[in-house]
Amino acid sequence: MRETWYDTAQICLGGHVINPMSVGSPAHNQRFCDQCGKAAITACQTCTAPIRGLFHDSLAAARAQYNRPSYCHNCGKAYPWTR
Ligand SMILES: [Zn+2]
Ligand SMILES: [Zn+2]
Repeated sequence: MRETWYDTAQICLGGHVINPMSVGSPAHNQRFCDQCGKAAITACQTCTAPIRGLFHDSLAAARAQYNRPSYCHNCGKAYPWTR
């Protein structure tokens, strides 16, 4: 079992964080944003790398504050909410 890993975040195209733990807590996933109605994505639209969500470690961090990323960590492209 993985002890430390990044969950995958689900964020709408307008930048609302829908679920920072879409793998760990899939019950909170939504296909569309309930605040603006835009589609929700879990991966970079340029390179398909998963959007980093909450970092899980064996001590505590699963409840840490989550700040959505502005740019893809894999290809460096701005996410839709950054443009
Ligand atoms: Zn939204
Ligand atoms: Zn990317």
